[in-house]
Amino acid sequence: MQQDEFSDPFEVLESVELAVIVLKVGADGLPRYSAINSKAREFTEFEYKDFAGKTALELYGGATGRRALNLHLSVIESRQEATYDIVLPTEHKPKNLRTTLRPVFNDQGAVVYLVGSSADVTSEMERDEALELTKMALEKAEEASQAKERFLANMSHEIRTPMNGILGMCELLKETELNEQQALFANTIFNSANALLSVINDILDFSKIKADKISLHDAPFSLLDLVQDVGTLLWAKAAYKGIELRTDYPEEMPREFVGDASKVRQILMNLLGNAIKFTEQGNVTLRVSFNESEPGCPLRIQVSDTGIGIDKEQLSWIFSAFEQVNRQVTRVVEGTGLGLAITKALVERMGGQISVSSTPGQGTVFTVSLNVKPLEDGDPGKQAAVPFLQDNRKALRANSGTSALDLKPEELAGLRVLIAEDNKTNQLVLRKMLKSSGADLCFAENGQLAVDFYMSSPRDLILMDLSMPVLGGLEATRLIRAHEKASGLAECPIVAFTANAQPSDVEACLAAGMNDFLAKPFRKIELLARMIQHAKGGVSHWAGAPSE
Ligand code: ADP
Repeated sequence: MQQDEFSDPFEVLESVELAVIVLKVGADGLPRYSAINSKAREFTEFEYKDFAGKTALELYGGATGRRALNLHLSVIESRQEATYDIVLPTEHKPKNLRTTLRPVFNDQGAVVYLVGSSADVTSEMERDEALELTKMALEKAEEASQAKERFLANMSHEIRTPMNGILGMCELLKETELNEQQALFANTIFNSANALLSVINDILDFSKIKADKISLHDAPFSLLDLVQDVGTLLWAKAAYKGIELRTDYPEEMPREFVGDASKVRQILMNLLGNAIKFTEQGNVTLRVSFNESEPGCPLRIQVSDTGIGIDKEQLSWIFSAFEQVNRQVTRVVEGTGLGLAITKALVERMGGQISVSSTPGQGTVFTVSLNVKPLEDGDPGKQAAVPFLQDNRKALRANSGTSALDLKPEELAGLRVLIAEDNKTNQLVLRKMLKSSGADLCFAENGQLAVDFYMSSPRDLILMDLSMPVLGGLEATRLIRAHEKASGLAECPIVAFTANAQPSDVEACLAAGMNDFLAKPFRKIELLARMIQHAKGGVSHWAGAPSE
């Protein structure tokens, strides 16, 4: 009879896409199924005869039954509709039903029926679960990539620090009285250590590129500063070989761009590094230009040299990884053959192109065009673009004028220098390199000691390692700058020793308030030049002052 009671009004519900259930509240207060429509039968896989007159506990049994009955009872008790998710253990795969259950009252206000409508949210929940899993996987991958990045940064530091010791000591050894055989041994150590260093640099770069699959971090940056910084970093390398390093940055060209500055820096470092490596006399020139009529890749960078050149056959493979090692039976210069492959990958990742033309015996020109746009007034970050660093450095450059090759260590006599460096060998290298200068040196073994020392005893110049125990160089610099500001003191020039001059390190140094940076391992002339310029109040030694 129950079926008849509901069959007519319920017929309408048979065609509804939602599952509908009706429970009648018995005299004992328990709600029992009295009708379910076809969709509900499909979801539950029950027939009318299975559920009619049963409570949820009797129908499903176990935990599902108990939970459903409790939910039904709580709606009767609260007299309010409720929405809940319930998992039905159907024969095939479990179904997630999102149900809204409403009480129906009689004239006396007692709950006599419960009417529920349910939708199958299994696929929605599966999608949410899949999304959650994907998110977790992405987070894990991101963590792994960050771990790799940290590992590479640490490795870079750990490798370069002892290399600084080896190269520094060797350089000092070469300056002592040596007989012919000893000089040969010292030169061999020096050249081998340099070769090892360039292999390490390439491998670290290459693995980094593999590790993060070249993610780009676009932000406003000053291209002019970047060009000058690269000139600063490579100046000593060129000066050491007696070749001139020039840069050409047209006056009218925009200075601020939006892009990944560290990648542009790396491209320039690789191309200029090669140009210097393969040039014995003459010059290496870096020219940048901007062509608005080429909207795809308006920024052009050209690195030309007057070096040994590249023959036609070699031109066809120089951009392939490891090729120089594979192809050249007799190699004139050390190298891994990774530099140009890295450069090409970076250029292409930035939507650009790289090409080369060369005349053996006369020189080579590498041309890179990049999809890097100038900073527009409306760009987000325009206000924050190249914060105080640019001004900071401009002020220092304004005092240029010393010839790089004309170094007089005596100019450092009496200069009060604080050196924050935890590595004992490097302390010794610095002590020896600066011995003849007469500079007044004092060493701090970590950043905290450096800050404490500086606060109690003013200095003219601070050389600051970045990675130190207790307190790192960046933190120490921030504390020193804060102290100077609070006490109304003039800023003492701080030169960072960066283990890795390529990526964001340099930006981080300048952002922390440092004025300059010296890539480890450094040469004695590089150190002296940097110190002399700061002693005179400006960094100008790089041979890249925009060429006449
Ligand atoms: P490597 O670490 O061997 O220098 P690269 O990928 O940077 O690796 O360069 C590959 C090869 O291309 C070099 O070994 C060299 O033979 C040639 N090459 C690159 N740049 C120049 C250049 N400016 N002048 C002459 N040869 C060059």
